[in-house]
Amino acid sequence: MSEYVKSLMAEVKAKHPSQPEFHQAVEEVADSLSLVLEKHPEYRTSKILERIIEPERVIIFRVPWVDDQGEVNVNIGYRIEMNSAIGPYKGGLRFHPSVNLGILKFLAFEQVFKNSLTTLPMGGGKGGSDFDPKGKSDLKIMRFCQAFMSELFRHIGPNTDIPAGDIGVGGREIGYLFGQYKKLKNEFVGVLTGKGLNWGGSLIRPEATGYGAVYFAAEMLGTRNETMEGKICLVSGSGNVAQYTTEKILQLGGKVLTLSDSNGYIYDEEGINEEKLKFVMELKNVRRGRIKEYTEKYKNAVYTQLDLNTDHNPIWDHKADCAFPSATQNEINAKDAQNLINNSVYVVSEGANMPTTIDGIKIFLDNNILYGPGKAANAGGVAVSGLEMSQNSMRYSWTREEVDEKLRIIMKDIHKTCVDTAERFGTPGNYVNGANIGGFLKIADSMMDQGVV
Ligand code: NDP
Repeated sequence: MSEYVKSLMAEVKAKHPSQPEFHQAVEEVADSLSLVLEKHPEYRTSKILERIIEPERVIIFRVPWVDDQGEVNVNIGYRIEMNSAIGPYKGGLRFHPSVNLGILKFLAFEQVFKNSLTTLPMGGGKGGSDFDPKGKSDLKIMRFCQAFMSELFRHIGPNTDIPAGDIGVGGREIGYLFGQYKKLKNEFVGVLTGKGLNWGGSLIRPEATGYGAVYFAAEMLGTRNETMEGKICLVSGSGNVAQYTTEKILQLGGKVLTLSDSNGYIYDEEGINEEKLKFVMELKNVRRGRIKEYTEKYKNAVYTQLDLNTDHNPIWDHKADCAFPSATQNEINAKDAQNLINNSVYVVSEGANMPTTIDGIKIFLDNNILYGPGKAANAGGVAVSGLEMSQNSMRYSWTREEVDEKLRIIMKDIHKTCVDTAERFGTPGNYVNGANIGGFLKIADSMMDQGVV
């Protein structure tokens, strides 16, 4: 770590204590950027990185709501408007009990670089609440979403800030949020993405993050003249990203052995085929059940309960070629990374945001595997959100094939940016440097053009 990064990190930690995930995200990026800052002292003089680290605006608000038993509940709502140098703030909303300011700041920070990489004109933001949607009735979810939007609506807009989904926020929640925004503002505009197809949504948006992560893996494999055909894959999570990652792996001829949720994971040696994936989609999206139920239906599969006392995550300790972490942050630590290498995994494409710890990343880089960091590999979701915004502006809808093809080309371009940038800065094959520097340059130059604001 350079002296500059050391002193920057000391300052970030002193200014923002108790935000370990935010420190982690900044450190990973700052480490890569020391290569650029040496060559471009003007960025340092203008304090570009120091300015990117501070959100342009943080909104924190009370979300009081009454549940269907008449009980009053209070949650915390957040929106981090991180950077608008290249476009309006754009990034998802997360509803999960673990949500706090530090987690949303890490996500918003990552989002700034990711959105820049897509080549679309989108700034970075993120938001959410410590509300836990798990096990709640549709009525409770609707009441909470309406209460959340009753404050958020005054801060967002189609040219200001356009939220989307993330953990705990899928099509159902986006629908309730959109309905309340429309009622309060009396206007039908593209203020959210991930909308339903009947009311301004884009085809392929639900699939985009997962499909994109697999397209990115395929591009990485292409550098070694290989394809996804016949590849054995480990996938974590069983939500939106994990489901469509699995679907695309199957379409490209790969085999998926695992899926998980926050209680445990299933291992199916025979592979999760289309029919089994359909069962998982119904289980998770309609019945909202637990992944354990998979083994009640498919008896040969094995379920392992999550054990918080172990120092590793056993889902990453199986023989395979590729891993697609698609659940949450820090789900792969150094021991997990080593287990993956020992099990001959040589492709890691991150569907989740920051699923690998800094020590874990180091192990991947030291072993020269094809490691696609989240801000590049999972950018397909926000890219298709950008395409949804374009379609809303044009009041026109592209076909499924058109959107899928645009997504594939965007993922190919992001991959090329990573490869070319890593090479230009003397670290060929290092997708971490490629993504961080590639995303940074466009934002830094735009901030330089726009003066100190
Ligand atoms: P979903 O809510 O649809 O699914 C999340 C999945 O991860 C669920 O299976 C959930 O299990 C599991 N999970 C959540 N938190 C934890 C935890 N603390 N420990 C273990 N498992 C956990 O979310 P998405 O699929 O949308 O998001 C997954 C990841 O992908 C996140 O990191 C998100 O930021 C990232 N991402 C999502 C994008 C999108 O378009 N949706 C875009 C880019 C990145 P359970 O049901 O038990 O909670």
